Amino acid sequence: MPDTMSFDLAPALDRLGTETAFEVLARAKALEDQGRSILNLGIGQPDFPTPPHIVEAGIKALRDGHHGYTAAAGIMPLREAVASDVHRRLGVTIAANQVVIVPGGKVTMYLAISMFGRPGVEIVYPNPGFPIYESMIRYSGATPVPLPLTAADGFAPSAAGILSRITPATRLVILNSPANPTGGVMPPAEVAALAHGLAAHSHVTILSDEIYSQLLRPGHVHASPLQHTELAERTILLDGWSKTYAMTGWRLGFGVWPRALVPMVEKLAVNAHSCVNASAQWAGIAALTGPQDCVAEMARTFDRRQRAMVDGLNRLPGWACVEPAGAFYAFPSIAGLGLDARAVQQRLLDDQGVATIAGTSFGSDGAGHIRLSYAASDATIAEALDRLARFQA
Ligand code: PLP
Repeated sequence: MPDTMSFDLAPALDRLGTETAFEVLARAKALEDQGRSILNLGIGQPDFPTPPHIVEAGIKALRDGHHGYTAAAGIMPLREAVASDVHRRLGVTIAANQVVIVPGGKVTMYLAISMFGRPGVEIVYPNPGFPIYESMIRYSGATPVPLPLTAADGFAPSAAGILSRITPATRLVILNSPANPTGGVMPPAEVAALAHGLAAHSHVTILSDEIYSQLLRPGHVHASPLQHTELAERTILLDGWSKTYAMTGWRLGFGVWPRALVPMVEKLAVNAHSCVNASAQWAGIAALTGPQDCVAEMARTFDRRQRAMVDGLNRLPGWACVEPAGAFYAFPSIAGLGLDARAVQQRLLDDQGVATIAGTSFGSDGAGHIRLSYAASDATIAEALDRLARFQA
């Protein structure tokens, strides 16, 4: 079929954004195939393999014959394991039937924004923030209401900032702590203040993206709106296995939903993907119920790499990086280089072979910044810093 063929598509598709990380990954791969040495600090995924006991559980599930469809919301032993894990980590009691297993953390975002977003509705989201929030809000026809995050505040959202953006049209507030791309963390006192303030706004639901909650730097504490009784009944918790257990390619995530929404979530899941592949779900049980020292070990490794990355960046003229409080991204200002972020992203890749992501890929308030993932080996980080130093010359 000729590629000049035109199709009469839904106009909403024109409003969809994307994740530049996947475009940069493709360009980096193309350069690598030409024989170039590429250091990939672009994509956000742990560079570790999935711990062996989890891989074995997935293989065993296939050998044991788990080859068919499962219930749309996931197998019950996995939903129960998630409920126990949420209790262990957050001290919150939830029912297993509030848990819906999905193919990756992202899917809970897609479902929640599709359910609430429509013309006339406002959705508050972090800017800079994970690009799919704004993309999906626009796709749904809702009005995106950015919550600007700044380096001066360590990119931490404040309750006052969020509450000042609530109007009668607000239906959803998106939180992401620890955050991509900034590493910002919302302190427990701010989460408590938000819960207190939102008590007066029962028309507002929270989508709390906690996919990096177990990747916190020492001295920082994770807090979830689910821990506050005022919000427990109207919080959608987004989490999954991708970052915590180095399982990005398995496509396994979960949402904890208010009970009243679960039938609708299941219906959307049946319409979209039916269920998550069965062996990945069994592997997910092994991850949650098995030893957790692999999680602590990965978090410790990210601490060490963060120090190398942030110290190195702050030694470069024209760069300034605040300490990320969690996740595995540095989000330095490159304002001192006198180039816009997209030009820096392009030149770092083409001239120096270092894949990074322009801050503007995470929203307009990411201007003047670059995201570098430190989910890479110590040697890769050291070599990347050398190449960044040469970029100055
Ligand atoms: N939420 C945030 C903030 C992320 O950074 C990501 C992945 O990069 C996701 C959700 C999606 O995770 P998954 O790969 O499990 O879909």
